[in-house]
Amino acid sequence: MPRPTAMTCPTCRTCRQGSLKPIERVETFHPPGVPPVEVALLAARCSHCGKETDLASQLEENLRRRAARKVHYGLHLLGEEILAFRRYWGLTQQAASRIFGKGIIAFSRYESEKSFPDESTTKLIRAAMRHPQLLKELADESGIEVPLWEERLLRPVAAQSSPIDVQQSPAPRSRAALGPPAPITQGTALKRPKALRREAAPAVR
Ligand SMILES: [Zn+2]
Repeated sequence: MPRPTAMTCPTCRTCRQGSLKPIERVETFHPPGVPPVEVALLAARCSHCGKETDLASQLEENLRRRAARKVHYGLHLLGEEILAFRRYWGLTQQAASRIFGKGIIAFSRYESEKSFPDESTTKLIRAAMRHPQLLKELADESGIEVPLWEERLLRPVAAQSSPIDVQQSPAPRSRAALGPPAPITQGTALKRPKALRREAAPAVR
């Protein structure tokens, strides 16, 4: 059982009387075909009004804890992986759903893990995560613009995986890896689009 991180207790912003004490909040996920996965997350509760909140200082650790559940998902994608991929290219949920040939609420359901893409769709999304050109071709076929296409090819930014239910602050931008969000796999660095990789110069004698 992980212990809450040692910290000073900030004052509650809601009632301005109590102090926020660290607590642990359990979130339950339901990946297909396996028992429910419980993730213990850091949070804080006001000693006066009882309001529960995620502190900014807890976001990074909570992201890590949520990502760690990936081991239970097999080939399935986490909701936040799908969300990060879609946002990376500036697509709306409806646009992404159409690109992958699904009903318009499909991506909304995938990102909140209310449902999971079927196997062929999962494979297609994962392939598009690794190969941006595939995403572009599917989008072109559906007559859908990828809003950040040129911008991302010119200036790839760190993948953002913001938790779905945390709104108070944007996900940290200063991640080391460059390139579009790829499926989280252990030991696999995020790859940049091929066009942007520097070719090794041939040795000249
Ligand atoms: Zn309070």
